Amino acid sequence: MHSITLADGTPIPTLGQGTWRLGERGADRGAEAAVLRLGLDLGLTLIDTAEMYGDGGAEEVVGEAIAGRREEVFLVSKAYPQNASRTQLPLACERSLRRMGTDVIDLYLLHWRGAVPLAETAEAMERLKEQGKIRHWGVSNLDVADLEELGPHLKNCAANQVLYNLEARGVEFDLLPFCQNELMPVMAYSPLGQGGALLRHPVIRRVAERQGATPAQVALAWTLRNPGVISIPKASNEAHLRENLGARLMVLTPEDLLELDSAFPPPRHKRSLEMI
Ligand code: NDP
Repeated sequence: MHSITLADGTPIPTLGQGTWRLGERGADRGAEAAVLRLGLDLGLTLIDTAEMYGDGGAEEVVGEAIAGRREEVFLVSKAYPQNASRTQLPLACERSLRRMGTDVIDLYLLHWRGAVPLAETAEAMERLKEQGKIRHWGVSNLDVADLEELGPHLKNCAANQVLYNLEARGVEFDLLPFCQNELMPVMAYSPLGQGGALLRHPVIRRVAERQGATPAQVALAWTLRNPGVISIPKASNEAHLRENLGARLMVLTPEDLLELDSAFPPPRHKRSLEMI
């Protein structure tokens, strides 16, 4: 399944492109934009960015990548918590729009919870929607209790972006079922464990070998096995990008899943939400 729907029926791709660490060095920007564009060519049309990444630089790289093809893209960006008030959010949104060279963001997220009351942020998000600056809004790094605190605004919260990979499965205990029940997609960030030890784990390597695949493909397919989950790996290397695409077609067998469960046990009790 290459796309799912938001609660209002809007289709959203299940595999996207992350952009953290892009736009940090001017000299790399052209190459970074070219990889994002190649991703679009190959069908990875969801791009996840944030005003934080590269201090606005990542949004500028995204702007370069989507120039002339905005309508192909499902564009996600995020606002700092300190910019999530009724006065600051419209200004932050305007800056993000300008950096990305577009007049609308498809999904605008609160990056994590700060001092601004969630209800105030939700109301500011609703205003941006009414003004046509954003099409949907959502949150990131919010746990069940935070989502419940949204009260009447919860039904308008389109997605929750959280840390989710084989090494960080805590959300499976209650947050993932909660969001599935609300028809709110969960966006799995750092699905490759940031390209570190996870991809060298012997069990992942064994499953990959059996599948005729790579560890990264196994890690991504594992996040995508859940209904209602979107995975947003970041790849600034073209070979990585092409490899990650292969995860869309991979089906992990019951034997694969059992082996992965024994190496990375699912949560048996509530854990506080991990974040990077
Ligand atoms: P990922 O788990 O996506 O890992 C990215 C790293 O893995 C990069 O070093 C990349 O290298 C490498 N990589 C990519 N593909 C492969 C592959 N096939 N084989 C081996 N290595 C590979 O980590 P991120 O933390 O970047 O998470 C993904 C995205 O999620 C972010 O970019 C960002 O958009 C979002 N995010 C959101 C957060 C939030 O608080 N809401 C927090 C963290 C991330 P290379 O670039 O050289 O290809």
